[in-house]
Amino acid sequence: MTKKALITGLTGQDGSYLAELLLNKGYQVFGLVRRSSSSNLERINHLSGDIQILSGDLLDQSSLMDVIAEAQPDEIYNLASQSYVPLSWTQPALTAEYTALGVSRLLESIRRCKPDAKFYQASSSEVFGQPDESPQTELTAFRPRNPYGVAKAYAHWMTVNYRQKYNLYNCCGITYTHESPRRGTEFVFRKITHAAAQIKLGLANELKLGNLDARRDWCYAKDAVYAMWLMLQQEQPDDYLIASGETYSVKELVECAFNCVGLNWQDYVSVDPAFYRADEPVQLVGCIDKIKIGIGWQPQYSFNQLVELMVDYDLKKLSS
Ligand code: GDP
Repeated sequence: MTKKALITGLTGQDGSYLAELLLNKGYQVFGLVRRSSSSNLERINHLSGDIQILSGDLLDQSSLMDVIAEAQPDEIYNLASQSYVPLSWTQPALTAEYTALGVSRLLESIRRCKPDAKFYQASSSEVFGQPDESPQTELTAFRPRNPYGVAKAYAHWMTVNYRQKYNLYNCCGITYTHESPRRGTEFVFRKITHAAAQIKLGLANELKLGNLDARRDWCYAKDAVYAMWLMLQQEQPDDYLIASGETYSVKELVECAFNCVGLNWQDYVSVDPAFYRADEPVQLVGCIDKIKIGIGWQPQYSFNQLVELMVDYDLKKLSS
């Protein structure tokens, strides 16, 4: 029988990759989309004939119940949230409504309308904020340091609590930064690959960045969504970190991207304090032993391969 999956956040980076993965596996895919985001279907335009869009909103419990009753999904992936950390400081209450309480509404809707559905909650490494240890594991204490991280911590524990209290098949994947050509240029990875391509093509001549020493654990969004799917294929639900297990600095990233286009980054990059963060996390890097050993997942793309594929994409896009 054809499996059915419902994705929230379908129009985002992860939602679009996950939809592609599930369609390739023969799933019938439903996407929960807010009416107001209908103008933002760019990442899923190429899939529009294959996906059933259902309109609903994480702010509205009854719309979620209607969507779940209609789609009768075997698997539900909650990838929707306001995910840009600086914006969570200017809209803290709205961030909590979507990212925290939205998950309560979703869990209640599943419990009432489709309790045998498997549920994936997109937790984020932002829950660790200022962690006590590095690398982090599934047991590291949550010490979030911004409204987004706080909201994600609430959503994580509600998902775990519903698993324990109601015996639902609920999983949380704590993802570290994951990138792709579908990332916006407000994020540093795409900002750099895009700028390297622009400079190579003579469309720009400088790149202003913030803290070059900031380090991140970066992996490819396609690898990350595969981990999400794999987590829901196990006999027992559990929570896992989804990460590369390695960190690279912004400086190493910029060097690698400019190498890809045969330029010396120092000729083009300058530091602008406007891009510095006041609340930089200390050392976010995931230990991926549990997911590696437990369910056999590890990233297929290295850091260098990811930089290269994103620079190539931006070169092609900008020259077409
Ligand atoms: P996120 O903070 O992990 O969600 O992702 P970002 O891509 O926005 O930032 C990653 C890191 O790059 C942070 O530590 C930033 O301080 C650092 N960074 C350095 N220069 C820049 C820049 O020009 N833009 C952004 N967005 N981040 C920068």
